[in-house]
Amino acid sequence: MMYDIIIIGAGPAGLSAAIYAKRASKSVLVLEANTYGGQIVNTPDIENYPVEEHISGFEFATKLYTQATNLGAELKFERAVEIRDEKEKKVVLTAKNAYEAKAVIIATGAENRKLGVEREDDMVGKGVSYCATCDGAFYRGKTVAVVGGGNTALEDAEYLADIAGTVYLIHRRDAFRGDSSTVEKLQKKENVIFVLNSTVSSLVIDKKIVGVTVSNKEGELTKLDIDGLFIAVGRIPENKDFAGVIALDDEGYAKAGEDCITASKGIFVAGDNRVKEVRQLVTATADGAVAATNAVKYINSL
Ligand code: NAP
Repeated sequence: MMYDIIIIGAGPAGLSAAIYAKRASKSVLVLEANTYGGQIVNTPDIENYPVEEHISGFEFATKLYTQATNLGAELKFERAVEIRDEKEKKVVLTAKNAYEAKAVIIATGAENRKLGVEREDDMVGKGVSYCATCDGAFYRGKTVAVVGGGNTALEDAEYLADIAGTVYLIHRRDAFRGDSSTVEKLQKKENVIFVLNSTVSSLVIDKKIVGVTVSNKEGELTKLDIDGLFIAVGRIPENKDFAGVIALDDEGYAKAGEDCITASKGIFVAGDNRVKEVRQLVTATADGAVAATNAVKYINSL
C-alpha cells in the first residue's frame, strides 16, 4: 500500500500534522520509535499553550494522540531508520518493514544532551536522570540538583521543589535562558538554592550518586551532597538518520523555512528538529499544520 503521507515522530508536531492531513482526507501513517507525545510528556505543567491554563504534558499528548487516531491516522511503534527518495515515491525503512508514501514529514524532535561528565552514562538510574516527572518521586524529602538554565531545568526545579527536601539549581551563567516568571517563582521557594556561574566538574559516586563537585568562575571547587542529579542542558535534533535526503545545518537542525519545505521535493520537516528561532509547544504544533498543508498541496500537484 502507498500512503499519501508518512509522518516520522508522534510528538506535538507529528500528531498535529496527522490531524491536518487526515482532515484533508489523506491516508496517514505515523511512525514512532518510543512513545507518543515526544519530549512534552516530561513537562509536568504546561501554562503557555493558548486556551489551556494548566495541563500536564502527558494529558496534552494523550489528547493529541486520541484526536489524531480518532480521525483515522494509523500509528506504528517502529523507528524509521532511513528514507529513500525515489522522486514521486518515498520509501521509509524501519528495522522490520519498508513503507511507501507520496510525501514524508520528518517530525523527530530532539534528544537529551548529555552533560559530558565522567561516568554520566553508568549512573543513569543510579542517581542521574533526564526526566524529573519520571523519576522525581524517588527523591521525596531528599536532596537533588538540577543542571541547566532553560525552561526545562526551571520547570524541573519547580516540580522537584514540591517533592524533594532541597533542590540545588546549578547553572553556568547568572542569567537564565528560560522564562523569568518561572525564575521568580523559584526565587520565592525556600528549598531552592541557586548555584550560579558554576558547572558540574565531576560526580561523587558511592555505588550511586552521593554528590557532585561544582566549579565556579574562579575555578574553586565545592562539593554538594545530593541524592539525585537531574540534567536538563538542552537537546540535540534527531535528524542524523535522514542526513542523506535533507540538508542539515552545523548543529544538525534540518534546513527548511517557516513553510517546512526542504530542498528535497515531497520531504517536509516540522518541530524542534527544524532550523527555527522559537522552539515551543505552540510552534511545534504550528509546524505540524504548516508541513501537512504543504504536503497536501504537493500531493495534489502530482
Ligand atoms: P535550552 O533552552 O537549550 O537550555 C539549555 C540550557 O542548558 C541553557 O541554559 C544552557 O546554558 C545549558 N547548557 C547547555 N549545555 C550545557 C553544558 N554542557 N553544561 C552546562 N549547562 C549547559 O534547552 P531546554 O531547557 O531543554 O529547552 C528546549 C526548548 O524547549 C526551549 O525552546 C524551551 O523554551 C522549550 N521548552 C518549553 C517549555 C514550555 O513551553 N513549557 C518547557 C520546556 C522547554 P546557556 O544558557 O548558558 O547556554
